Amino acid sequence: MRVDVVTIFPDYLAALDLSLVGKARRSGLLDLRVHDLRDFTTDRHRTVDDTPFGGGAGMVMRPDVWGRALDDLMGDPAGAGEPPAGAHLVVPTPSGEVFTQRHAERLAEAEHLVVACGRYEGIDARVVEHYRAAGHPVSELSIGDYVLNGGEVAALVMIEAVGRLLPGVVGNPHSLVEESHGAAGLLEYPVYTKPPAWDGHDVPEVLLSGHHGRIERWRRDQALERTARRRPDMVAALDPAGLDRRDREV
Ligand code: SAM
Repeated sequence: MRVDVVTIFPDYLAALDLSLVGKARRSGLLDLRVHDLRDFTTDRHRTVDDTPFGGGAGMVMRPDVWGRALDDLMGDPAGAGEPPAGAHLVVPTPSGEVFTQRHAERLAEAEHLVVACGRYEGIDARVVEHYRAAGHPVSELSIGDYVLNGGEVAALVMIEAVGRLLPGVVGNPHSLVEESHGAAGLLEYPVYTKPPAWDGHDVPEVLLSGHHGRIERWRRDQALERTARRRPDMVAALDPAGLDRRDREV
């Protein structure tokens, strides 16, 4: 997968050199490129923003600067070639749909993502309109109901969530199956490792039993209980056809 990130703070994205995403970059599974929006300005002050039409506080990012940056990267939605055709534009914004594992799964299927990191009061609305009208998939996504100063942290969140779904990035693909927010629609059960007793706290006996059937049932019960307690909205969204009698009792 190729991912281009456009930002006025390229250094923010340095964390993507670390850990599994960094390894995926080095192995070529993820072709991640970071671009400085100011390289697409034409004035000597490298201006990317201006005052809002209609008045009000703050500054808005100029569409012409964004247009020059993105035209170079988005490719032709109808054509082939380099960069890959039809890049999917991802615009982090607190006014977007809330980013979930389902968005991550969908974005992980794209060949090419371009992430546009806003600052100030955000990016002139015509930028999204323009690339949508040109036929590109465009996702305006929020990482939660709060406001950050810029889109870079949101880009890090989304790229990590998407990157770990690419085949080969997480060493044991089974780790992705039972996770919170996976196909079961539950939070993950609690996990334990050695030592079996620590500071007066014991690992639940069933996990030491070696009895796979009991362990599996215990984990399912724990996942259901935890989800019901912490995220009743997720329990309400479960498909009743996927629940057995014991699930309903839990
Ligand atoms: N005026 C905007 C509003 O009220 O919706 C907020 C702009 S915010 C200060 C500047 C930039 O930070 C946004 O353009 C976006 O890129 C990013 N941002 C802030 N909060 C975010 C969130 N919850 N999710 C994703 N991006 C966010």
